[in-house]
Amino acid sequence: MDRRLFVTGAAALAGAALAGCARPTGRVSGSTPDTQSPTSSAGTPRPLASASSPSPTPSVAAPPLPTTKGAIPSGEAITQLAVPGPYMAWTIDDGTDPAVVEAYAQMAEQTGNRLTFFLNGNQPAWTMHAQRLRPLVESGQVQLGNHTWSHPDLRTLSAQAVQEQLQRNEDFIQSTYGVSSKPFYRPPFGAINAGVRSAAAAIGFTAPTLWYGSLSDSSVLTSEQVSEFADQWFGAGRIVIAHANHPGVINAMPHLVELIVTRGLRTVTLRDVFATS
Ligand SMILES: [Zn+2]
Repeated sequence: MDRRLFVTGAAALAGAALAGCARPTGRVSGSTPDTQSPTSSAGTPRPLASASSPSPTPSVAAPPLPTTKGAIPSGEAITQLAVPGPYMAWTIDDGTDPAVVEAYAQMAEQTGNRLTFFLNGNQPAWTMHAQRLRPLVESGQVQLGNHTWSHPDLRTLSAQAVQEQLQRNEDFIQSTYGVSSKPFYRPPFGAINAGVRSAAAAIGFTAPTLWYGSLSDSSVLTSEQVSEFADQWFGAGRIVIAHANHPGVINAMPHLVELIVTRGLRTVTLRDVFATS
């Protein structure tokens, strides 16, 4: 239970580690961080393996995957992981920049990191890079969650329109990747209410998934800024939101990967840690 051993930095200890073992708090963080600034940086970025070198073996001495799963909370959105341990869910939304989607696919191939994409099927990236992503999806290393077809604020839609947004995206995911996104969905903008929850649950989307920390890269950031948000938020028990929308994250990727290793974390998909049947 002492996941705090896996978290570096006094800020993480002071802020969130105790709550990390509890049920999700419903807190959504990012623009208004709830912890102090990190007290140290994990150093300068190091490159991933260069294109000419062989793929490295997945993270050296990475902690093993969890052997138990927790329950999906009812009546509230998921914001943290349900099992104790050094696990972190790295979730990536949208996909407006195909180059960023490709960079994440390459990183996953090279490092073994487990990722969850909350994709919008109307973004061409998910068709362009389907062939590359499909083996990762089939093995379970990459999970596909539902972020609606075209990213509306679901609170502004009728129940039927909410369902159409989720179902159209589900149909795309099934036809393109051969898997279902159910029961996990992330409402665009994190915007959710009881009506949205009810409409989604009626067609099998019973696990609205928000986040605990954010790379804040739905806006254009420099690679240094992305790295700083990762320094702040990468930690045990966390669900961290990122976006495949702007290229700043690409050059930050080596630092992000290094953080996972130096903090003793193991990335997991939501299916790795939440029981779905
Ligand atoms: Zn989004």
